[in-house]
Amino acid sequence: MKSENSRKPIQGGGGRLDPDMVIAGGMLLTMVEGEEPLEDVSIFIKDGKILKIQKNGEKPLAGIMGHVEKIDASRGIIMPGLINGHSHAAMTLFRGYADDLPLKEWLFGKIFPLEAQFLSEKTVYWGAMLACMEMIASGTTCFLDGYFFQDGTVRAAHDAGLRALVAQGVIDFPAPGVPDPGENVASAEAFIERWRGFSDLIMPGIFCHSALTCSGRTLQRALEVSSKAGTLLQIHLSETLEEVIAIIEKKGMRPVEYLEDLGLLKQPLIAIHAVHVDDEEITLMGRHGVRVVHAPESNMKLSSGIAPIDKMLKAGVTIGLGTDGSASNNDLDLFLEMDSAAKLGKISSMNPVCLSGGEVLKMAVRGGAAVLGLEREIGTIEVGKRADMIVIDLDAPHLRPLYDPYSTLVYSASGADVKDVIVNGRVLMKDRIFTSLDPDEIKGKVMEISRKIGLQNQEV
Ligand SMILES: [Zn+2]
Repeated sequence: MKSENSRKPIQGGGGRLDPDMVIAGGMLLTMVEGEEPLEDVSIFIKDGKILKIQKNGEKPLAGIMGHVEKIDASRGIIMPGLINGHSHAAMTLFRGYADDLPLKEWLFGKIFPLEAQFLSEKTVYWGAMLACMEMIASGTTCFLDGYFFQDGTVRAAHDAGLRALVAQGVIDFPAPGVPDPGENVASAEAFIERWRGFSDLIMPGIFCHSALTCSGRTLQRALEVSSKAGTLLQIHLSETLEEVIAIIEKKGMRPVEYLEDLGLLKQPLIAIHAVHVDDEEITLMGRHGVRVVHAPESNMKLSSGIAPIDKMLKAGVTIGLGTDGSASNNDLDLFLEMDSAAKLGKISSMNPVCLSGGEVLKMAVRGGAAVLGLEREIGTIEVGKRADMIVIDLDAPHLRPLYDPYSTLVYSASGADVKDVIVNGRVLMKDRIFTSLDPDEIKGKVMEISRKIGLQNQEV
């Protein structure tokens, strides 16, 4: 950390400022409702928070002396960091191992056996580190995760410097690290206890695999533990038609009604996918404040279906955007996910007006923040909020000309256009150079693991 004495206060607008970071130049998309893009601004940051946003005079960085971190955004767009609402970070280890299969065969025939054999806290750590590196490289500053051996993911997110909700997976089968399913919720509870208060950036939680792979009792106990700990419960919901039919057959009601019957909608629930939900279920979700994460590329790749996003938005359901694990996507680039979400929304409704670039971008920042219940902390760029933001370099042929920045970001940009990444006032990538992690070490460790898995021929 820089010493207080080494900083030189600078004059700005209404008084003396003593920032530890300044981002200057370029166009700012605050993502605040109704605010227009602002040209040529400086953002002053101190102790992880946004201190001031001001229009620039001439040479905005020239007058700033001392050990102030300076980010030059003059050729780019400054916007809030993207929030990946759904991931299984360490599944990077299985990227490309089993593609082009139906979900059931993919999951039960390929992924579960691999996980049983190769997951440990150590392999999860390196898989999650690779995911964190990929997310930083593509402009994600916060992610919501559910998996096994999650101590490894907490350590990875912490080492990488990302903000995260890291949840221990719960399933009523023997699972990696939890051989006795009778211990699954207790093990998740112990995980939460271990990591609660560990870091301001990391919230531990529980992830129930689905309403089909977890019993009603397991779901209720998971909710009890989550609410007691003041954290959020996540679940895959109605991802496939098969799952919905099986629940109707077993329980005599549709999945959302079943969750309501169990009492699971009394607390804010994070429901991933919500592909096969009917109008009554959408109304129920809106009424109970269910927070949905849309993962369109995974839904397309596994032929799961198309979530009725437009209908859910109209019913007042909070919606964030997620990539899902990289074994079913196969990347963690939210820019590509935004492009897919917008286009899939248009083709499913046969209406090119629905899900505009601006709406999808909002979903990936403000939507994600609301899913986490952190809308007062992150998701927009405003004075007093946490400094989670990214700079996109516009100096690329596919990003010119620039008429509508929201459209350009959603339909033309990719994660590779992200130049700088800041989380909680700390730079994690500057001019595409990582500052919190060693990319060669991470790629080397993952290659070592992948060789054991049997992917000797894959090159990073
Ligand atoms: Zn998932």
